[in-house]
Formats: sequence, C-alpha cells, structure tokens
Amino acid sequence: MKTVEINTATCSSRVICGEGAFNENIPALCRDKLTFTVTDSNVYRIYRPLFDDIFAKSGAVHVIPAGEKSKNYSVLLGILKAMLSSGLKRNSTVFAVGGGVVGDIAGLAASLYMRGVHLVQVPTTLLSQVDSSVGGKTAIDLCGIKNIVGTFYQPETVIADPMFLSTLPAREVRCGLGEIIKTGALNKDIYNKLQQNKEKLEDADFLKDIIYDCIAHKADVVIKDERESGLRKTLNLGHTTGHAFELYYKRKSHGEFVLIGMYYELYIAVRCGICAPEYADSLINLIKRIIKIPAYADAEKACLMAAYDKKNVRAEEISLMVPAKIGQPEELRLPVPKYASIIAECAAQLKENRL
Ligand code: ADP
Ligand code: ZN
Repeated sequence: MKTVEINTATCSSRVICGEGAFNENIPALCRDKLTFTVTDSNVYRIYRPLFDDIFAKSGAVHVIPAGEKSKNYSVLLGILKAMLSSGLKRNSTVFAVGGGVVGDIAGLAASLYMRGVHLVQVPTTLLSQVDSSVGGKTAIDLCGIKNIVGTFYQPETVIADPMFLSTLPAREVRCGLGEIIKTGALNKDIYNKLQQNKEKLEDADFLKDIIYDCIAHKADVVIKDERESGLRKTLNLGHTTGHAFELYYKRKSHGEFVLIGMYYELYIAVRCGICAPEYADSLINLIKRIIKIPAYADAEKACLMAAYDKKNVRAEEISLMVPAKIGQPEELRLPVPKYASIIAECAAQLKENRL
C-alpha cells in the first residue's frame, strides 16, 4: 500500500493505493460520521455486502443507473435531493464508489451541496483508478456535450484498491489501458515498464504495479497545474481526436477512443516531423495489442465537426498534444482543415492496409 500526497495552493488530497487500501482505511473514514454514498447499479449488485456492512451503517446509500447516460442534471438533482433528505451536514462525508461516471457526478454533487462537503473517491474501474479519480475534475454532460458542466473539487482521500479489478469485464480493463498507454507517452519510466511488460499488459500483477506509477505521474502534473492552464494539458494526449470520434461514432468507450485518437495523432506527429517513426512504432505496437484501429470512413467529417464545435478551438487552429520523444510530449498547432485532411489520409491508408 502506498500513499501519494497532492498538495496545491488550494487543497490537500491524498491517494492511497494498493492491496488492502479499502479494508484498512474505509471503516475508519466512515466511523463517527454521517456519510452519504453514491454508487451505480452494477457496482451495488456485485459489492452489496460492502455497502450493507460498511457504508449503510453510517448513512444513506444512493444507487444510480450504470453508464454514461446517468451523467445528467436529473440524476444530479436526484443525488442532491437524497443528500438533503438524509440530513447531510457540512461536516458529513460523501463517498463515490464506482467508475468514472459515479466519481464525476458524485464529486460534482459533493462540491455543490452546502457549497462543498468532504469527499472520498473510491474508484472501482481501472480507468478511474489511474485517471479520473485523481485531480479533482467533476462533471455532467449537457446537450450531448461531455463534461461541459462541472467543477474542480479535490477529494480529501482517494482509495484505489485493486481488489475491485477482479470483477471488471475485459473490455473495461482495455479501457483503463488506454489511459495507461497514454501516460506511457508522457513519462519515460512508465514507457519503459510498458515496453518491458508488453506481453502481459492485462495481467493483474502488472496492473497493480502500474496503477501507482500512473497515479504518481498524474499527481505530479496536478500539483504543478491544478486548473489546466499548461502542463495538465499534456494529459489530453490522444483526446482531441479521440473525443471527435467518440462524439461521432459513440459505440466504443472512452479509453478505447483515447487509443484510437493516439494512433491517428501519432500518424500526424510523424507526418509533421515531430515524432521519429521508430518511437511512434513502439507506441503503436502497444496500442495494437489492445485494440484494432478502425479505418473510419467519416474520419475527416468527425474531426471537422468536433473542431468547429468544441472548446479546444483557437481561432482556426487546433491544438494537439503529441508524443515527440520518450517522456516528452509537445504541443502541435495545425489549421483545422489541414488537421482533418491528415486524419482522412491516415484513415485511407488504414483502409488500404498500408499501415
Ligand atoms: P469508467 O470507465 O469511466 O470508469 P463507468 O463508470 O461507466 O466508466 O464504469 C464502466 C462500467 O464498469 C460500468 O458499467 C460500471 O457499472 C462497471 N463497473 C464499475 N466498477 C466495476 C467493478 N469493480 N466490477 C465490475 N464492473 C464495474
Ligand atoms: Zn481520458
């Protein structure tokens, strides 16, 4: 079990990760307090005894339907009303027990209720353990735009316990690997570990080890740039194109789209001379172990729509964070039409099996 401290100008937060993190910390965090626990229907069904034996003894347990569709204002309102009727006070603690969806919406509710109550994140998916539970971003979606309404609100404690991963479907593991491989493009030590263990990326033992590394990397970035004015943008590597495809094609999950986005953006980085082909190939090799890259017929249209619609447009330019050298991402700015046409070129090459 290891602890990562995140102390910034405005808050202090700690992430406790590793085996035993849940059992050794959660009962004490619930003791002598009024708590309010949010989880989703799947996690509740699988881990019912944990809720009955621990969380329900110190307060209410509120279950929301599983899936991204729950990240909306009526589910948020339902949580806030339940907080009120359970008698939650300023010094009470909200526990978010689940994947990124629960973490995002329960975190937002905790930041709003009485202008903010204590928050403990208990991420139960690989993706939320390595990425979304750390850093204090909370959100719901609105009018089809992901994460457009939200706050920065640091949890006091994050408990990332790998025991939850044993029940995770293989596809959810791949999703988490999307963010892990992304972190490998930002951090030399993680890159080396991924290369050394590329045959066993999905093994439980390997994952236990790399979760801490990814959390420590993210914590370091968040300490230096809590509000995403600079360095934190590096964490968006693969996400510009990934989000564009996510909006347009929908069917896959976030982590899978991050990998696909990274692949297309690596093509751009090589094409623009920022990334050496050998380095790009070594990352592509990792990506292809997890997912087959689709040759999207509407790739250009999807990217144009997202670029002109979304918040990352700077005039007519798009900003991408791309891998340049090992452990060294770089920002690349391209005119939107040029960006979209290179994406189309990549899709065409994929279609003809030339990549
Ligand atoms: P994210 O991938 O962002 O963490 P979700 O919160 O939607 O996204 O979680 C993905 C799916 O995994 C959801 O259906 C959720 O109910 C389910 N889930 C979360 N934790 C576990 C777990 N430990 N075991 C099995 N399924 C889980
Ligand atoms: Zn992401």
